[in-house]
Amino acid sequence: MKIHEYQAKEIFSKYGIPVERHTLCRTAAGAVAAYRRMGSDRVVIKAQVLTGGRGKAGGVKLVDNTEDAYQEAKNILSMSIKGLPVNQILVSEAVDIAAEYYVSFTIDRNTRAVILMMSASGGMDIEEVARQSPDKIIRYAIDPFIGLPDYLAHRFAFSLFPQLEQADRMAAILQELYKIFMENDASLVEINPLALTTKGILMAIDAKIVFDDNALHRHPDILSFFDPTEEEKVEADAKNKGFSYVHMDGNIGCMVNGAGLAMATMDMIKLHGGNPANFLDIGGSSNPVKVVEAMKLLLQDEKVKVVLINIFGGITRCDDVAIGLIQAFDQIKSDIPVIVRLTGTNEHIGRDLLRNHDRFQIATTMQEAALMALRS
Ligand code: GDP
Ligand code: MN
Repeated sequence: MKIHEYQAKEIFSKYGIPVERHTLCRTAAGAVAAYRRMGSDRVVIKAQVLTGGRGKAGGVKLVDNTEDAYQEAKNILSMSIKGLPVNQILVSEAVDIAAEYYVSFTIDRNTRAVILMMSASGGMDIEEVARQSPDKIIRYAIDPFIGLPDYLAHRFAFSLFPQLEQADRMAAILQELYKIFMENDASLVEINPLALTTKGILMAIDAKIVFDDNALHRHPDILSFFDPTEEEKVEADAKNKGFSYVHMDGNIGCMVNGAGLAMATMDMIKLHGGNPANFLDIGGSSNPVKVVEAMKLLLQDEKVKVVLINIFGGITRCDDVAIGLIQAFDQIKSDIPVIVRLTGTNEHIGRDLLRNHDRFQIATTMQEAALMALRS
């Protein structure tokens, strides 16, 4: 689970990592009021969306008067960044930046450890730095039994800040950041940029935290930060109905029983040059109620132009599945092409039942089904 910058900064503050003064706003008028209250000449207005690259998308603006504050706030609030609408903005006291650093903790599967990454080339081009000159990123794996005691934190801090006073500050930030990571079951904590101000203070100008979904049940306080996107709302709704559903960008809607078969179906579509609209595991049975619900889910997505149903009848017999599908489609009002690949126990009876209905196009193999979906 991702959280917003302002939420991550709340956590940073709790752990004593310096952040600039800021106010969360929902309207341009609110941003102007926040600017006045701030009593600072310059403020930064920042889109609060769950994606990086806001600066490059025009979602971070420095302003120094109320007119601009109003205009920029209004403009940013009307934006969508990488498909995510901006509903909230942060008005932050502008910081005079001398240098921008990068620091993060994440899990490195190669070393099987939490890894600290730091760079003196922080800021908006860090991805480019990682690609072009990876040597500019310092990496240290953290031994879970040792953690980050003072001597290690200082050793790491000195590799970026040769001066003692700043190294001390950096060491404290590293230790707190590591604590945030461990205590909250994060999979990423990142400060980019960590600004060195002209006054020599280190401050988190941006804040990113991603939490391990599987550990969220241990952190109700963090779960309360959850701000689902429209897609996530649909996925959560599907989960409540007993489906495992993940939305994707393609146009072939998939309805499959079993996660493994669902993955294989998507692979088959991809192999033949198509794009699945989703992953959908409807579970073992295919009772009509479930099929109707699943179809509703698929048809919510306007991109879906054909539905591929791939069912393996093992314990549930194919004739039962076919009867279920027929009953379900008697209730579904949509003329979207439906391809059914049904195999397993009593498959011939099942297919014959479906053939009597002109609602379905029948395939015997998965490959045939994928090709039919691509052609329709
Ligand atoms: P991101 O693009 O989504 O990562 O958004 P950031 O919060 O990292 O902001 C992008 C860039 O805006 C930073 O790298 C800074 O260069 C600049 N920026 C953000 N806040 C301030 C500030 O208070 N003062 C100054 N001078 N620049 C800022
Ligand atoms: Mn950033």
